[in-house]
Amino acid sequence: MNLAKVLIIYTGGTIGMIKNVKTGALEAFDFENLKKYVPELSRFDITIEAIAFEPVDSANISPKLWITLVSTIEQNYQKFDGFVILHGTDTMAYSASALSFLLENIQKPVIFTGSQLPIGTLRTDGKENLITAIEIAGAQENNKPLVPEVAICFQNRLFRGNRTRKYNAEYFDAFESPNYSELAEIGISIKYNKKTINYSPHTKPVRFHKKINENIILLKIFPGMSTKFLKAILNTEGLKGIVLETYGAGNAPTEEWFADFLKNAKDKKISILNVSQCNAGSVNLGLYETSRIFLDLNIISGKDITTEAAVAKMMFLFAQGFSNEQVEYYLSQNIAGEISI
Ligand code: ASP
Repeated sequence: MNLAKVLIIYTGGTIGMIKNVKTGALEAFDFENLKKYVPELSRFDITIEAIAFEPVDSANISPKLWITLVSTIEQNYQKFDGFVILHGTDTMAYSASALSFLLENIQKPVIFTGSQLPIGTLRTDGKENLITAIEIAGAQENNKPLVPEVAICFQNRLFRGNRTRKYNAEYFDAFESPNYSELAEIGISIKYNKKTINYSPHTKPVRFHKKINENIILLKIFPGMSTKFLKAILNTEGLKGIVLETYGAGNAPTEEWFADFLKNAKDKKISILNVSQCNAGSVNLGLYETSRIFLDLNIISGKDITTEAAVAKMMFLFAQGFSNEQVEYYLSQNIAGEISI
């Protein structure tokens, strides 16, 4: 029997942290300690290897890490059946979203996990998360991976990476995927929800993209926002796109200053993607008078995309050498399972 082979890539986060007795703060520690705290790793009927990066709190993660992850997966793609990425929870949804675009046509599991409590603590959730993530990354049926996509495994659920957001800083179930059903439920057994997993036969081989364009911003509208700051944003050199978090179903003030802001952005060829501040539901332009302006100016609806996926998608698309029209076309389309069709 051929054992499945899983590569663990350790980037840092709480899962691998330890309390500094002097300051009381959590600090990253060496990956070898992780193995010490999870002796179960040697009991798997899966072959496990690990690569440890210099551990970082995920608040310090930048797109550079995404590219390093892509290169590491590329170098090991033929050798392993699946990948587990240990990552801090704070920006995990951004990284998982980014990898869903950068690993185009991925046909093997790339499972992110982490924990709310360090793996060395008594009630840690890290051990269970790690063990389950490895099991999912190595799970196969008829020699084919059961989850051939980028996903986040946390507590008792497996989510599509680019549908997920961290919504809780306290409870063990830190993540949710409000607009897309879970890929698997984790109980006594792991129940794969095969209807939600992307099994579409990829006619093209996997592509490992290694470019990101960071010339975008995320702007959340709020009552009382000042036009002087909006003007300053539009005057920022090199700005290519704005992920605009609007109210409810994509609504914004109907006042002239806001319309001027949108028109000026258009004139400057700055693309705007309208995403909702709400956790669940979708942008639905034209439903209210307060979203009419977006339709009139042909501004793209992000539909039910998460903010995290919107940011990663924009950074990815602007790095592809596309024209503005092409970027805007792809922003309006589902390209990696990030938007409901
Ligand atoms: N600050 C930590 C991080 O994101 C939190 C965690 O891992 O849960 O790296």
